[in-house]
Amino acid sequence: MTVTARVAEVTKKYNAVEAIRDVSFELVSGETVALVGHNGAGKTTLIKLLLGLIRPSSGDVAVLGQNPATGEWSVRQRLGYLPESVAFHLALTGRETLQFYARLKRVDPRKALALFERVGLASEAVDRPVRTYSKGMRQRLGLAQALLGEPGLLLLDEPTSGLDPALRRSFYDLVDDLRQTGCTVLLSSHALTELEHRTDRVIIVNKGRKVADGALEELRRVAKLPTRVGIQLTAGTRIAEWECNGTKWSSGRDSSSFETEIEPSKKIELLRHITTNPAQLQAITVTEPSLDDLYAHFLGRNAR
Ligand code: ATP
Repeated sequence: MTVTARVAEVTKKYNAVEAIRDVSFELVSGETVALVGHNGAGKTTLIKLLLGLIRPSSGDVAVLGQNPATGEWSVRQRLGYLPESVAFHLALTGRETLQFYARLKRVDPRKALALFERVGLASEAVDRPVRTYSKGMRQRLGLAQALLGEPGLLLLDEPTSGLDPALRRSFYDLVDDLRQTGCTVLLSSHALTELEHRTDRVIIVNKGRKVADGALEELRRVAKLPTRVGIQLTAGTRIAEWECNGTKWSSGRDSSSFETEIEPSKKIELLRHITTNPAQLQAITVTEPSLDDLYAHFLGRNAR
């Protein structure tokens, strides 16, 4: 796997404000990475550093092997960016807009137009002024613009805000396709639930610092948060009489459901015990800590 972006001990100050402090990470080809953090955590600053729009106060940033602020045009051409608020000229049609950006990026306009299909923008909309577009259509036009030039690194700031569930799904399908082509996708978002199954890795930033970085499984291993186990017993079974190795169960949704939290290292033992005593057992659910839980954990730990 090739390293597409490297952020090494980067600090970025805006006068007295330290927007990013001593952050390091690498992104590799074919990886989809979520960048998450509270408002003001430093996500947009990191994206701007990767785009070369701003320079670090200290440390180094390299994108596709070059400094994005001074690197060669050929490298910048392979950087795609979808800003949080996409602002297009409202009088131009979708086709004119994309052709305009294609010329800026020196991409063959005919290839550019094929992107409409890729982002699912209906052909009847292509020749309509952007002012007639819904928020979702503008977002898709923005994505088509970001995909110009077959990017090696695609930076997406809140890409699914304002999209309905069907559009969100087709957006992530598109990200999956890009992953297959080796493109690195870094997406900044607050939508933790939808990121959970859609990204390979999560970077959590808080107050300018990186506080966690890894695949969901790695973050779970580090955080050691309990797993929730739920059971459903046949109606009328009294939990106090349902011997279970001294596990403390609390009442669940109804009179025959019960729940417990167990530390990860004891989970298998508990499941083994439950399933060897299955007479009154009707169902088991095992819920691992979600990205929401992990996010709260890492930010809480960092606040102390
Ligand atoms: P959000 O989720 O709200 O978009 P963010 O994580 O993208 O937030 P940044 O926009 O990177 O956060 O801002 C990080 C910090 O740097 C904030 O305290 C912000 O006020 C500050 N900051 C960002 N840009 C500037 C600037 N041009 N001048 C001064 N301070 C800035």
